[in-house]
Amino acid sequence: MSFSSNQFMRFQKANMLRRRIRLKRKEYRIGKDAKCEYCPETDLRALDKFDGAVLCRNCRLTQAGKSVIERHHFSGRNNDEFLLAIPANEHAVLSDYQQDWPEETMKNPHRKILPEIAAWLRAIGDFEKHVIERSGTQAERLERLSKKLEKRFGSNWDKDIEIEDNEENDK
Ligand SMILES: [Zn+2]
Repeated sequence: MSFSSNQFMRFQKANMLRRRIRLKRKEYRIGKDAKCEYCPETDLRALDKFDGAVLCRNCRLTQAGKSVIERHHFSGRNNDEFLLAIPANEHAVLSDYQQDWPEETMKNPHRKILPEIAAWLRAIGDFEKHVIERSGTQAERLERLSKKLEKRFGSNWDKDIEIEDNEENDK
């Protein structure tokens, strides 16, 4: 029996539901619109509550005097030894994605080749999703900063600085 597109859609829907429940539970535990107390991190997957304060993993490790770099099993520890050195926040996000992989792909106890390749493809897809999400978040930060700068220095602040630069260079 082949894996029909209907079955695939059901699998996708079940995954989305599981993910939503997981994030809602986290939100319930640490609060709505949570943000790290020390940095702009708002991704629920990287946040947690420590002694009553909401902190991201990176800041939590920094507070403890530890490195924020962790080793991530890119395609799952049972599929490949390949490790990626990444900040703890990114590790939290990529590990969260892995929770949605089919069990036979993630666990692959007998190291079968096809689930192993599937794991690699899922890992690459997750990584791309994450980069796209992060790009959006970073763009929003820039847009907020742009508005604040206009409010503080006027709507032509960027042009004024360019003029100042040119005047300094002409001296
Ligand atoms: Zn933080």
